[in-house]
Amino acid sequence: MERSALIELLYSRGALTDGHYALEDGRHSSLLFRPARIIQYAPHNRRLCFQIVRHFLELDIHVVIAPTIGSIPVAVEVGRQLEARAVFLEEIDGAMQLSRGFQLHDGERAIVVMDLLKNDDELRPAVQQLRRADARLIGIGGIFDIRESDRAFNVKNVATIRMHDHCHLPADCPRCIAGTPLTSVDRDGSAGAGS
Ligand SMILES: [Zn+2]
Repeated sequence: MERSALIELLYSRGALTDGHYALEDGRHSSLLFRPARIIQYAPHNRRLCFQIVRHFLELDIHVVIAPTIGSIPVAVEVGRQLEARAVFLEEIDGAMQLSRGFQLHDGERAIVVMDLLKNDDELRPAVQQLRRADARLIGIGGIFDIRESDRAFNVKNVATIRMHDHCHLPADCPRCIAGTPLTSVDRDGSAGAGS
């Protein structure tokens, strides 16, 4: 799928919106990412996930890990396409952990996938669990990747769509300069009222 067709699909379902958003960290963004709005549709999720899967087809992946609840549909679909197990971390006693009998094994080859790669911190608990089990991290994948670097944990980092340069400090924000009204973004990624 061409990048332009992917972007059009993301806009059509509101997974990507253009505006002037006040982020929690104080910066302003000209784009808002809401991957749940597109990955809820299995046929769309299948096409988006294939853009991650194609990089790992020949790499004998045994297990795909979702480090957050929102990433579970991505891990399940990537796991299905790679014929690998899919497991997820959830918050237990304040820490993200594997439970429900999920286990990682010595020598297993794993990738960690997310709906939205914002920073490396959300990946760290999954990487720590892999290290503890002596399993091997082969790569990182995301539907959206808005990080500056694509070399986290010194492995292959791939994304369906990679975007940056859309965030600015208010003093340097082009949309502030243009006088575009500002919308606040809630923690769950919804923008303003009624979104
Ligand atoms: Zn602004």
